[in-house]
Amino acid sequence: MSLLRIAHYPEPVLLAIGKPVGEEEFNDNLERIVEDMFETMYEAGGVGLAAPQVFDSRRLFVMDVPDEDGVSNKLAFVNPEIISVEGEQVGEEGCLSFPGVFQTVQRQMRVIVRAQDVKGAEFELDLKDLAARCVLHETDHCDGIVFLDRMSPLKRQLARRKIKSLQKTGKW
Ligand SMILES: [Zn+2]
Repeated sequence: MSLLRIAHYPEPVLLAIGKPVGEEEFNDNLERIVEDMFETMYEAGGVGLAAPQVFDSRRLFVMDVPDEDGVSNKLAFVNPEIISVEGEQVGEEGCLSFPGVFQTVQRQMRVIVRAQDVKGAEFELDLKDLAARCVLHETDHCDGIVFLDRMSPLKRQLARRKIKSLQKTGKW
């Protein structure tokens, strides 16, 4: 396994729409990339990581939002598709492609998501709270959308200011 380099905003790969993973791509190579993505995510202290964030413009992401007892919940989503959403939640989000930037984002509270696992088998999950937030955030990455795009204009302005100051001090 190896750690992958994380793309920082505004790398063009973060703003491109990811290509669907084709049936012929479900092989050892895909499994290796997914394992590397998990390792990279854990090392960076994140709960989700999408392929475009590691310079791979395809529709897939990994996440591990532990349950209430802190038990790990390691999941890979290939070709994710949001089937339905419900309610709303407001909370602070971060993103490994925006190191040091945390900002309030409004998202749906509950999401039904369909995807394929790393072997190509389809599954559907009904998730809420942080897991729903994470699925929405990471599926956005597959569509070239970053959390900056989901902020209110005021929060976006604050985030942009923070990015500028981090870039100036070389912490980006
Ligand atoms: Zn992100």
